[in-house]
Amino acid sequence: MRIGHGIDAHRLVPGRPLMLGGIEVPHGSGLEGHSDGDAVSHALCDAVLGAAGLGDLGRHFPSGDERWRGASGVDLLRHVAALARDAGFAVSSAQVVAIAQAPRLSPHTAAMASALAGALGVEPSRVAVSATSSDGMGFTGRGEGIAASAVVLLTRIS
Ligand code: MG
Repeated sequence: MRIGHGIDAHRLVPGRPLMLGGIEVPHGSGLEGHSDGDAVSHALCDAVLGAAGLGDLGRHFPSGDERWRGASGVDLLRHVAALARDAGFAVSSAQVVAIAQAPRLSPHTAAMASALAGALGVEPSRVAVSATSSDGMGFTGRGEGIAASAVVLLTRIS
């Protein structure tokens, strides 16, 4: 078994849809980024890559690479899951915590878990998404951005 951990954060800016955990969450601003800024998906990608010993997102999807401009976080996650499978690993379980002051994310965590599980190619019960605020403190507390932290357990299949 291999354990992996990933962290990501993106800035909230007006005029973009808020894409998080593979779904669009209704909000007045969205996450900035070369891709769709989906910090939840990106944190999970880094956790999977780290557990599989495959480096990190920046290595596989450089921000200057035009092929990945506007790429959705779940597309990247699908690609990362395939890389992990090729390296001989299956996702046993994953958990992501999203940190945001607003919008309130708890009504959306089940849909995020389902979308992330679909991208990973596992049953939804193997993926948990939870949400917390930072109690008004720091960049997430001031609404400047959204952060996410993920852990994943991989098991060797070949
Ligand atoms: Mg990111």
